[in-house]
Amino acid sequence: MKRQTNAPEVCPCVPLCPLRLEICLVLALTIVLASTIACSKGTSVAASGTVSPAKTSESPTATLAPHEAVPSDSAPLPHIDSKRAFQYTREVTAFGARYIGSENHKKLERYIVDHLKGDQVEDDAFAADTVEGKFPVRNIIAKFPGTKDGIIVIMGHYDTVYPLRNSGFVGANDGGSSTAILLEFANQLRGGLRDKKRDGYSVWLVWTDGEEAVKTWSDTDSVYGSRHLAEKWEKDGTLKKIKALMVMDMIGDADLDIQRNTKGASWLLDLIYSAAERLGYQSHFYAVEEPIEDDHVPFFNRGVPCADVIDLDYGYNNVFHHTPQDTMDKLSPKSLEIAGDTILETIHMLDQR
Ligand code: ZN
Repeated sequence: MKRQTNAPEVCPCVPLCPLRLEICLVLALTIVLASTIACSKGTSVAASGTVSPAKTSESPTATLAPHEAVPSDSAPLPHIDSKRAFQYTREVTAFGARYIGSENHKKLERYIVDHLKGDQVEDDAFAADTVEGKFPVRNIIAKFPGTKDGIIVIMGHYDTVYPLRNSGFVGANDGGSSTAILLEFANQLRGGLRDKKRDGYSVWLVWTDGEEAVKTWSDTDSVYGSRHLAEKWEKDGTLKKIKALMVMDMIGDADLDIQRNTKGASWLLDLIYSAAERLGYQSHFYAVEEPIEDDHVPFFNRGVPCADVIDLDYGYNNVFHHTPQDTMDKLSPKSLEIAGDTILETIHMLDQR
């Protein structure tokens, strides 16, 4: 995944702000003023200037209880097995570099499929033409049918960075955490089936392949698997049935702060925030907003309601991203739990709509 370089929405409070100081000061003053106005309307402005969905105002005159903005729901809150999810991350990372075309990649394909025994599993396999040659690419799809008409898609990539194949890069967070959280989602979804169907929309889990660029990130050198799948699902009519598509990426960082990726449907981003609020995890979401390119882009560009759940702030100033320092010791089971439970709760809230 990659930050959009022409990102217009840079927070004036983040370190390494590219704006000149006087512009920063004007912006900061504007935000303080906007905050004062917004609070009086029952919304609040995060430190980044992000307008968060209805939260309790800090004003002493506020009368709303913290969770009043979220509709009441008696369903139990979801709870993934974060130890198990963390163990999956450890096992996936232990394969070593898992770039497209590699032996370790094949081992991981088998590992994923072995964990989906008894599930409805499909492949979307093809040969990708890249600047580094042709590579086999395989998206693995596990389908959990539901009683409601429509599909919720959850994606996470399992390949690691090709250009870093000889650097010692093992992608514990980038590639490992996304593979693992989807395996844990499969456990949770499988357990919730009644008469072979879940009570709600069908949920399809997609382990995407070829998310990483083989040379330099561009529209044609990135997200090979999801570009192929978006095209395929456009042709066969699947896209029209998708109610929401969420991508999980780099969600294992012990210091979890998920950006509000503006390349997404705002109602879905708001719903994820509400789900986080229900669980008391909102402080890990949306302090910063910015456009980030990831596996959702080919679907987003085709009008599918998307959200990319990503923490692209991995170590101070993202220093561990795409380096051999992306290792297990930087991750935490709690982060998998925060991201995992929030997305399961979002699925539950989507089912109610
Ligand atoms: Zn990456």
